[in-house]
Amino acid sequence: MKTQPDVIVIGGGLGGLLAGCEIKRRGGHVLVLEAAAGPGGVAATVREAGFVLEPAAGSLLLPHPQLTPILESAGATVVPAAAAARRRYVYDRGRLFELAGPRAVATGLVSASGKLRLACEPWVGPRPDGPDESLAGFLRRRLGDEVGRLGATLMAHGVFAGDPEVLSARAAFPALVALEHDAGSLVRGGIARMRARPKGTPRAGVHIAPFGMTGLAVELAGHLGDDFRPEWPVTSVRRDDRQWIVAGPQELRAPSVVVAVAPAAAARLVPSPLAAVLSEATAAPVAVVGLGGRSADVPAPTGFGALVGPDADVHTLGLLFESSYAPDRAPSRHRLLKSIFGGGADPAVLTRTDAELVELAVEEAGRILGIAIQPSWTRVVRQSPGIPQYRLGHPEWLDRLEAAGQTGLHLAGWAYRGIGVSSLAQQAVRVADVCLPVPAGAGVRSGVAS
Ligand SMILES: Cc1cc2nc3c(=O)[nH]c(=O)nc-3n(C[C@H](O)[C@H](O)[C@H](O)COP(=O)(O)OP(=O)(O)OC[C@H]3O[C@@H](n4cnc5c(N)ncnc54)[C@H](O)[C@@H]3O)c2cc1C
Repeated sequence: MKTQPDVIVIGGGLGGLLAGCEIKRRGGHVLVLEAAAGPGGVAATVREAGFVLEPAAGSLLLPHPQLTPILESAGATVVPAAAAARRRYVYDRGRLFELAGPRAVATGLVSASGKLRLACEPWVGPRPDGPDESLAGFLRRRLGDEVGRLGATLMAHGVFAGDPEVLSARAAFPALVALEHDAGSLVRGGIARMRARPKGTPRAGVHIAPFGMTGLAVELAGHLGDDFRPEWPVTSVRRDDRQWIVAGPQELRAPSVVVAVAPAAAARLVPSPLAAVLSEATAAPVAVVGLGGRSADVPAPTGFGALVGPDADVHTLGLLFESSYAPDRAPSRHRLLKSIFGGGADPAVLTRTDAELVELAVEEAGRILGIAIQPSWTRVVRQSPGIPQYRLGHPEWLDRLEAAGQTGLHLAGWAYRGIGVSSLAQQAVRVADVCLPVPAGAGVRSGVAS
């Protein structure tokens, strides 16, 4: 066995683990170093009284071109969610609207004039290249004020717990912005993209990890064997004239290092000027509140959950019907709901105590669902620093990170180019591309896995 790894990955959250597994899948020798006693990072499943609360990633869209091969090669277990996952709701103006594809057009969620303006989208000219545009600005321009404001709020709440006026459209939803760039319209671009899909390509569907996200992380770490090192807090990363030196309980060396920890933590490890640029990252704490109880006391509807629109007058950003799409998350004849609070959208709500947050979650879940909720089990998990916020200027920040980087030092994780687990897999592939020995003559890049 080789003593020196090709790559050292710092951080055994899902980002670091996927990067490690992808490097191993390609035959590279990787070490993944994790400060905590176990893998998984923020995706730390809570199991209590038969309830399973996922305080971070709770579902995955699979198959996915980068994520599926990594999970398969590591023997990680994922299964399709219950069919209920296809039913989605929006709560706005005191009402719960079911959104199910074309049926959404017929709901009263959007006014007739809003729908008419939406239908004009293909004829709205693209914006000339200019400064970074907010998500709300982008969608209002393309879809009209009403639908744009609604769509931007739902997307910002649902993915970033963020403020749509502050999130950068290009950084937060690059695939959407690319539709306008490539086809001049979201509708035309969407149709073109659908037509370009090779026939027989399976549609991605909601999947869950039956042993919890911690279970999935344990499977990924187990696949790495002794090359996953828990309780290995890295204290610094520096370079001599030949390679990188990773200091912690001992000193390890490798030609490439991937720093897959939150930017504020990364800034304490890496040399300047990269450290200074990293310290500018923005994230927003969130609180995840689990509400469990007997089915009669927590009578949640069938579905994936409800996102909250711009005129809802509640603090809840999203309410997930956990045990409906993942029945094993509650004991038999019991249900589990999950509410999300805070983020960049509503930071002030997090000044409340856990007991106050539970009270708020119960009252608002009842209001959203139009039924009284009486949970017998509750749990609050606070995530801090929380969900990265890709604010206006994020693309330029990535460019500055790139410029401040050094050969062989790479950044990975949800702070940079996509906050979902599938984006972490895309990053893992890029990291492996740049870190593993390349044929003579080809260069090795550094910077954010871009
Ligand atoms: C409420 C919420 C809901 C979400 N829902 C979904 C979803 O449904 N689907 C989805 O795809 N994604 C979802 N996500 C996002 C997903 O959870 C994240 O993308 C992912 O967990 C981030 O992983 P990471 O490895 O980048 O970061 P982290 O999990 O933060 O991992 C960083 C790791 O580095 C370690 N570390 C820190 N400092 C050091 C050091 N000095 N030395 C060694 N190790 C160190 C930490 O202990 C940690 O384990 C959700 C997130 C939240 C908060």
